[in-house]
Amino acid sequence: MEDCIFCKIIKGEIPSKKFYEDDEILAFDNINPVAPIHILVIPKKHIPSVAHLEKEDEAIVGKIYGVINKLAEEMGFKEKGFKVVVNCGKDGGQEVMHLHFHVLAGEDLCKKFT
Ligand code: AMP
Ligand code: ZN
Repeated sequence: MEDCIFCKIIKGEIPSKKFYEDDEILAFDNINPVAPIHILVIPKKHIPSVAHLEKEDEAIVGKIYGVINKLAEEMGFKEKGFKVVVNCGKDGGQEVMHLHFHVLAGEDLCKKFT
């Protein structure tokens, strides 16, 4: 989608520090982290939010969790734990309307964000 910053990151028009990429999924560093590790994992397909998921998109959500698990293993935060946050819509505090999964780790997050 033309005016979407995450679509621009996917196309390489906006630079990002990538942690994982395949045909369907991209994981990159958050430009404004709120934890020592703050990764965003997104589908390459422009799905605006959880509220816009179609039946055909359900598989990609499962794959995204697989990528999150792989990153946790590879980056060494699987054992200590991490938090996955998905904001949806105005009341959910979503600012970028391209579905994304915040992966937060590297500190005690028990009382943060929930
Ligand atoms: P949300 O509030 O859930 O829509 O989260 C959007 C997130 O995107 C925020 O945490 C921003 O810091 C992050 N963000 C915005 N622009 C960029 C960018 N160019 N590169 C990396 N992360 C970004
Ligand atoms: Zn997009």
